[in-house]
Parts: sequence; structure tokens; C-alpha cells
Amino acid sequence: MLQNKVEDVIASDRKYLWHHITPYNEKVPPTVAVEAKGAWITDINGNRYLDGMAGLWCVNVGYGREELAEAAYEQLKAMPYFPLTQSHLPAIQLAEKLNEWLEGEYVIFFSNSGSEANEIAFKIARQYHEQNGEPSRYKFISRYRAYHGNSMGALAATGQAVRKYKYEPLAPGFIHVRPPDSYRRPARQSIEEFNIQCAQAIEETIIWEGKETVAAVIMEPAITGGGIIVPHPVYMEKVQEICNKYGVLLIIDEVICGFGRTGKKFGHMHFGVHPDIVTMAKGLTSGYLPLSVTAVRRDIYEVFKASDEYGYLRHVNTFGGNPAACALALKNLEIMEQENLIERARVLGERLQEEMKEMENHPLVGDIRGFGFLLGIELVEDKKTKEPAAPAKVGQIIADCKANGLIVGRNGDTVAGFNNVIVLSPPLSVTDEDVAFIVSTLKRVLKKHL
Ligand code: PMP
Repeated sequence: MLQNKVEDVIASDRKYLWHHITPYNEKVPPTVAVEAKGAWITDINGNRYLDGMAGLWCVNVGYGREELAEAAYEQLKAMPYFPLTQSHLPAIQLAEKLNEWLEGEYVIFFSNSGSEANEIAFKIARQYHEQNGEPSRYKFISRYRAYHGNSMGALAATGQAVRKYKYEPLAPGFIHVRPPDSYRRPARQSIEEFNIQCAQAIEETIIWEGKETVAAVIMEPAITGGGIIVPHPVYMEKVQEICNKYGVLLIIDEVICGFGRTGKKFGHMHFGVHPDIVTMAKGLTSGYLPLSVTAVRRDIYEVFKASDEYGYLRHVNTFGGNPAACALALKNLEIMEQENLIERARVLGERLQEEMKEMENHPLVGDIRGFGFLLGIELVEDKKTKEPAAPAKVGQIIADCKANGLIVGRNGDTVAGFNNVIVLSPPLSVTDEDVAFIVSTLKRVLKKHL
């Protein structure tokens, strides 16, 4: 593209596009991407970058998969649209397939975004208790630092300080508890003790709020957007026990952790918990088309069916479960199975983590954690005080990675002042050479910032 044309496009971008959150990092101007293949994207200037952040948008099978484009195209030709007030084959087939992946009996409600999948989960939880004779159960418990979406209920469930950013009042009835951030646990407490205490905080909250008032707990298997916080297994074990004890539903948000990201089909499968409701989006279509799911355990759905043959839920959505998106999602899951991408994420993710662990002696690196292809590197000013690295320093590291052809993410809680976790989450389909490139680039950049 001619230089003046590129400048025109960028000027138009700045003039007409309202970017999502960006520019959160003034040192890295938004990329205008024009094409992508595998883990690599090409921008409008012809620069190539390995998208080490693709995983947070969940391009799990990688960019440029023609099979996915074809699956959507064939369905668009055969029957482009039909609402799920009625039914169609791609939705039925995908619902069946998701039951296989979930290894349990679930009924599938389709929508368009992770936020909406969570909103639907909240509505289902309240209606379930109401129809079960417990109408006073309306509250939800979630964790500080978690992100659950951008709509008024999902934002209320979100535990990042950003939820307060000029948008209050949000939906009432959402309560937050401390996340199991083991890196920042009190001195002299073991990781296990700390995690048990964090789970107990949920029980205490249920009791203090009134056990007859709590509808559900919502959590990701590991907090992703808030800085890759992976719990000790004992935490999830306790959470399950507490939910069972008080008749509180357990909603697991698999919007990022689902579909192989963590090295298992779903993140909660690392912990042996049995969620009542599972929400999913992004990785379901590898980000190619919008599609989300609220999967509800069959026995919960049966309570709805007891009063109405079709399990009436007052939620209708024009595009949810669009046939082309469902056909594409089916193909996406098939590719993941055929190419054994989940096992690959587990093995290569471990290698990525091991190789990055060599950087633990670096003065800026406070903690390295994660599972599968979901890795967080927490940067600090001082390893003893754990003071978060200054935003400009983190921004410069991200800018330097980009200048060297690697896009990395950044997570934490911007408003609360600790947006200091570098995130690596490449497509699950990356090659061994791609992983070596990520490791060598990031190490080289970090070494420059002593
Ligand atoms: N839950 C989690 C854990 C997420 O990370 C996100 C999005 N980043 C959402 C929900 C909301 O999904 P969406 O952007 O599709 O509304």
C-alpha cells in the first residue's frame, strides 16, 4: 500500500473509530491489521507480529483457517438465518457436541457474547430459585479482580475497580470477596492455608448476607483479566463444598479458560468441580464469529420444565445461535480434536512456563504463573515489598516487544493502580518455532530493562 494511503487510513481510524479501552498504552498505538495466518498478523504497513495475546480473544485454532470460513459459507448458502424461538440443525448438533465436551448433562442456551451468557446465567439462577420455592435468593457472590463482562449485571459481577468508573449504579445484589491471589498472601501463611481462608470468606459472606438470600457464586477457574490468578486446588474443592452446603448455584465463567486454553477442555476440569451453569464464548468459535453459550445442568432445567413444557425463560435474542456461527463452532471443535490442540497447549504451555521461569531472578519479575497457554508474569518495582511495576515501565516493555515483532497482553486492575501483569496466551496451534520466538523475544526485552 502506498505510504500516503496508509496515512489516510490511520487518520480515518483516529477520526471515526471509537476503540475498545485502547489506548491503554500510549506507547503502543493500535495496530491496523489486514491479514493473519497461524499465530502471525500483518499490519497495514506490512509489519508482521506474533500475536501472543490472541488467546485472550481466544483465536484458539489460529488465524486463517479456511475450513472455518468454508463451514460458515456453506451454512450461509444453505440457510443463513433462523431464530432459536424455533430450531435448526447446526444449533442442535453443536448442543450435542458441547455435552460431550462438558462430560455431563447440560442444556444449551445460545447468545452472542460472554457478557450476555453471564447475564442469562444470572436470570436462570434467580428464576430457578424462585420456581424452586426460594424467591428470596437473589444475590451473587464474585471475586475482586475478576472480569465478567460489560453489561450492567456482568459489570456488577466484575470485581475490578473499573466497574465503578462513572457507570454506577450498576445492577444491585452483587457482592465481592477476596481473590486467592497467592503471590500477595500475608507473610508466614502457606499457599494452602491462604486459599482455604479465601474460600471460607465465601462461606462467611453467605452467612452474613443471610443464607436464604444468596442465589449463586460466579467465578472463572482462574481469574484471567485481573492478572492470571490460578487458585490452589483446595480453594475450588472448598468452594464446591460451600455451594453444595448452602444450596447456592456455582456458575463457572469459561469465557477465556474454556476450549483448551488451560490445557484441558474446560478450566474447571483441573479441579474436579461440577458447575451448575457454565458460560462460554470466545474460544467456542476461535473468535471467528460471535457466539456464546449458557450451559445449564439438566436437573436445573428440569425445574423450569416442571411448570412449562419448554422450560420458559424470559430471554430472547435475535442473533444468538446464528446457524453460520454454530456450523463454524462445530468445525472449530472438530479441528481442536483432530489436531490434538488441547494436549498440545498443555505440553507447550508447560515448556513456555518452564523457559520463562528462568527469568524469576530478574529484578522486575515478581511472579510467573498460569496453566496451559495462559501465562502471567507479574512485574514489580521491588521483590520484597511487591510494589507493582510503574505503568510507564510495563508500557515500555510491551512497546519493546512489539518493536521486536511480539504482541503481548497486559492485565491487572487499571483503576486500582496495578496493571502490571504481562500476559502470554498465543493460539493453541502455535508451532515450536513460534514458542521459541516468544521466549527469546520476551527474555531479550526483559534483560534490557534491568
Ligand atoms: N467473562 C470473561 C472471563 C471475560 O474475559 C470476558 C471478556 N473478556 C467476558 C466474560 C465478556 O465477554 P464479551 O466481551 O464477549 O462480552
